[in-house]
Amino acid sequence: MSEQAVETPVLDRYECRACGYVYEPEKGDDSHDIAPGTAFAELPVNWRCPVCTAKKTAFTNIGPAGTASGFKENLGYGLGVNKLTPAQKNLLIFGALALAFLFFISLYGLQ
Ligand SMILES: [Zn+2]
Repeated sequence: MSEQAVETPVLDRYECRACGYVYEPEKGDDSHDIAPGTAFAELPVNWRCPVCTAKKTAFTNIGPAGTASGFKENLGYGLGVNKLTPAQKNLLIFGALALAFLFFISLYGLQ
């Protein structure tokens, strides 16, 4: 049973909701002698988070590496850029308008 699981091409990763540690099945867990390729479901019941010793129940499925989570990270990065760009545009437009207004006022002042 466990020997077949090693051949499973895609294994879900699990993230510790307490500290953010991500259990990656491809790497296993050195500190608990968990061999690479061990699915999270096959970890011993008494397995704990190597960082904060949270129980297995504190972990949440974040999907296989390079798919769902990677997409989320890219999406978050994209949203961050999209949020910044309009603000910078507004700042540029406002700054340009303010400069034009000041220039107009200074011309008036010279006459
Ligand atoms: Zn943890």
